[in-house]
Amino acid sequence: MRHLPLPTDDNEDIFAADDVFETCVSMVKKPTLRAQLRAISQDVKTEAADYDVKAAKMQLYLKQPHNHVGGVSGDEMVKVYTLRMVPKTSKGRPIYDRIMSAPVHRRCPLCGIGTVNTLDHYLPKTHFPIFSVTPHNLIPACEWCQGEKLEYYPTTMGGQLLHPYFDNVDNEVWLASEVVAGVPAGFRYFAAPPDHWIPLLKTRVAAHLEELNLPVLFSSNAGSRLSEIRARLMNLHQKGGENAVRIHLYEELASIEADHMNSWAAAMYRAAVASDWFCNGGFKET
Ligand SMILES: [Zn+2]
Repeated sequence: MRHLPLPTDDNEDIFAADDVFETCVSMVKKPTLRAQLRAISQDVKTEAADYDVKAAKMQLYLKQPHNHVGGVSGDEMVKVYTLRMVPKTSKGRPIYDRIMSAPVHRRCPLCGIGTVNTLDHYLPKTHFPIFSVTPHNLIPACEWCQGEKLEYYPTTMGGQLLHPYFDNVDNEVWLASEVVAGVPAGFRYFAAPPDHWIPLLKTRVAAHLEELNLPVLFSSNAGSRLSEIRARLMNLHQKGGENAVRIHLYEELASIEADHMNSWAAAMYRAAVASDWFCNGGFKET
């Protein structure tokens, strides 16, 4: 998971939920519906402010699902997103694009692997329609992560997936993997947060991995990486034995960790250098 700053407009000002709502609603052609939507603008603003407070306190699980907002149905609220923010010609689309393009290299903040190609609602819009276009509920995501998460929302404290705008677990190692001795060798991923973390955060990083099925994705990437570097490792092993392999892996690890210490690759290399079996030829194919 990679932390993101709160989404901002072209002037670097943080998007206000009611402004974004008004931008989208201003496109509604039917005067009656437009008036109904504008009548709940204050509710959108108030709920967005409460969302921020709860997210900062790891309490979004307390938000209750609902199927209408004032006099507006949930379906109609969802359309504010699907018809007035997503279509390329809609007035909300520049906001959509701005939020989606925020991650560096458009790398998915939820997995750190995929390319962002959508916005995911942290609290899904079908269950929490009031947050359909609330910017802090819109997370840039890749196809894998959105496909795994679908309509998931937390109902317990520990079930709250990491929220890129409100949680920052980038600065301490919490993602681990271990070498699975086999032919070929594999890597198994799991959460191993620092002891001093509060129990709730420890539970949440594990829930994040599990709900998004990330160990499968990470293991797949690690397997491919091993295939790519196998010839180099064999060459090093032949010339300098286990020690030469380990030195090379350490150098690679330092560079990868300088980028992101909780990437799948960082965890893979940490596991590889820690494994005598791996460094002494376990990486070979036969
Ligand atoms: Zn992803």
